[in-house]
Amino acid sequence: MGTLAGKTALVTGGSRGIGRAIAERLAADGALVAVHYGRNTAAADDVVAAIRAEGGHAFTVHAELGRPGDVETLWDGYDRQVLQNSEQAGLDILVNNAGITPRGEIEETSPEAFDEAVAVNMRAPFFLTQQALKRLHDGGRIINVSSGATRIALTDIIAYAMTKGAVDAFTLTLAKALGSRGITVNSVAPGIIDTDMNASWLRGNEAAEQSAAELSALGRVGRPEDVADVVAFLASDDARWVTGQVLDATGGSQL
Ligand code: NDP
Repeated sequence: MGTLAGKTALVTGGSRGIGRAIAERLAADGALVAVHYGRNTAAADDVVAAIRAEGGHAFTVHAELGRPGDVETLWDGYDRQVLQNSEQAGLDILVNNAGITPRGEIEETSPEAFDEAVAVNMRAPFFLTQQALKRLHDGGRIINVSSGATRIALTDIIAYAMTKGAVDAFTLTLAKALGSRGITVNSVAPGIIDTDMNASWLRGNEAAEQSAAELSALGRVGRPEDVADVVAFLASDDARWVTGQVLDATGGSQL
């Protein structure tokens, strides 16, 4: 029996990239996993099928974050389906992973792109978590996916870095607010990971891949599983005494 047997987890953006790896890892550890997605139904269905093929338990939840009614849509879908898949309502592990990366120096960043990044990366996790609090069992876990870009100055993703800095501030403050319930709140800050988010400039571009690999002390580009394993640790009982922290999962980028 896995270490998360009997627990229920929601992974936002669980249909692709880092979120998919997190969903699969938490399911492998025994959790029932709600795989949230925004637009790509086929990708979310594929994750659920993969989890079930391994003997795990999962279902999909749809909601396009950053749109009016997003949080209500997500929780309505979650509440309906969790009872079809489990004997108990509520939630044990919330992973706020869904995010977007607008690219551009400060001069190139439009108000529209800035607002969308704030809506998806900052506003959505805040209100989604607000509505999670009444569902989250005492002793639960909140894990926010941040970014190494809050420590390393990358001028071409300045608006994105701002939103992730806000996520870390949220983590710190929420950890204090929820401590009396035994709920831990932590951020995980990945470095460059080979996902669709980076496909346009990374995949098939040997020079870009080499310079991305050289950023890390470990000399390679990260894989989604590198981050998922850190999230699994934070979700586990082993991390019960860790809260309000940002765990750097950049493979030692720019040390
Ligand atoms: P991907 O682009 O590969 O996947 C994004 C996931 O989030 C998809 O499941 C997507 O679902 C969902 N999503 C995106 N926007 C929305 C939206 N508006 N509403 C609902 N769902 C949405 O991203 P990554 O896996 O690379 O990134 C995951 C997290 O990790 C993000 O928060 C990102 O900022 C962070 N991160 C990533 C790094 C990297 O190098 N890849 C580095 C540091 C941090 P759908 O396809 O259905 O829209």
